Amino acid sequence: MEGLFSRCVYLCKMLEDKNQSRTSLAELGEFGLINHITKHFKVSHKTTVKAVGDDAAVLESSEKQTLITTDLLIEGVHFDLSYMPLKHLGYKAVVVNLSDVFAMNGVAEQITVSIAVSNRFPLEAIEELYAGIQLACETYTIDLIGGDTTSSTKGILISVTAVGKASKEEIVYRNGAKETDLIVVSGDLGAAYLGLQVLEREKQVFKVNPKNQPDLDNYTYLIERQLKPEARKDISTLLKEMDVQPTAMIDISDGLSSEIMHICSQSEVGCKIYEDKIPLDPQVISACEEFDLDSTMVALSGGEDYELLFTVPIADFEKVKGNPHLSIIGHITDKVAGLNLVTRAGQELELKAQGWNALTNKE
Ligand code: ADP
Ligand code: MG
Repeated sequence: MEGLFSRCVYLCKMLEDKNQSRTSLAELGEFGLINHITKHFKVSHKTTVKAVGDDAAVLESSEKQTLITTDLLIEGVHFDLSYMPLKHLGYKAVVVNLSDVFAMNGVAEQITVSIAVSNRFPLEAIEELYAGIQLACETYTIDLIGGDTTSSTKGILISVTAVGKASKEEIVYRNGAKETDLIVVSGDLGAAYLGLQVLEREKQVFKVNPKNQPDLDNYTYLIERQLKPEARKDISTLLKEMDVQPTAMIDISDGLSSEIMHICSQSEVGCKIYEDKIPLDPQVISACEEFDLDSTMVALSGGEDYELLFTVPIADFEKVKGNPHLSIIGHITDKVAGLNLVTRAGQELELKAQGWNALTNKE
């Protein structure tokens, strides 16, 4: 994590300084650029018949069902290049899409990547972005099969589409949760949001004194969760090994509160979440103290954790219980009972779309 800000300063210099090594995109031309950035990618799935290079990619259809998901990320809206190195941006843009495929209990195999860049970005910047995309493709065994490249008047925009597959029986929708099902979450929550708070704070400090390289040692996990999130490819395998088929599943991109609401409204059920069961990393707890934030609120509303939230039949309790990757945080109730959070003090609060609102009633 050391040198993160120096790297970002380097990036800013690269974008501004005419003396830095910068090859203008105009020099290469569109086709030169596409060839340059895609030539190092290798294809590893037999379902990929034709990747980059023709008018359309060609995929062999299998007997399984096909999953398709897209995300669009815009500079200044979804990311800030003053602390998001382009390599990380490329990696994250892929990972957030894979997370959606895994949230359907599917296997991800291909992606397309479309970018729009302004002339502020030299080739070296696009190379960084694609280095991150390539690392994600290698890490998750994904084939890059195409995309589009165009210019923007301002800033950078990146859109990734992921293609995956799963058998009809394997696919898990948001709408299958049943009364008495257990609510389970993978990993821990809130760290990515706090990572963003740390980065925002350091950005302000850095603006005042650029020589001051921040000491980020106490926040390494938080920053990593924000800048280099991973998608839970392992959970689908883990559940198969445990012989557990979730009844409903979603990935946590917007915070636990909003995701559990999606499951409950689509499944037409209610829920009870226990505050003391929400999994938190020790760095989350200490950063919450430092920033004077309530760790439960952070977990409920923080977002970008890319963990999986799912429901399983209560009969699977013994199989799920005690698994180090999984936490049982509550259970599904009748719809009329509504969506509730049971606090550590035993008080029941109604969960709102923004956990923040719900929890301010505490006082
Ligand atoms: P067309 O003009 O037919 O849309 P393009 O010249 O845009 O074709 O693209 C040529 C090939 O390069 C296609 O296979 C396309 O999918 C791929 N491609 C274009 N841009 C990108 C990109 N940014 N990343 C990956 N592949 C790309
Ligand atoms: Mg095109």
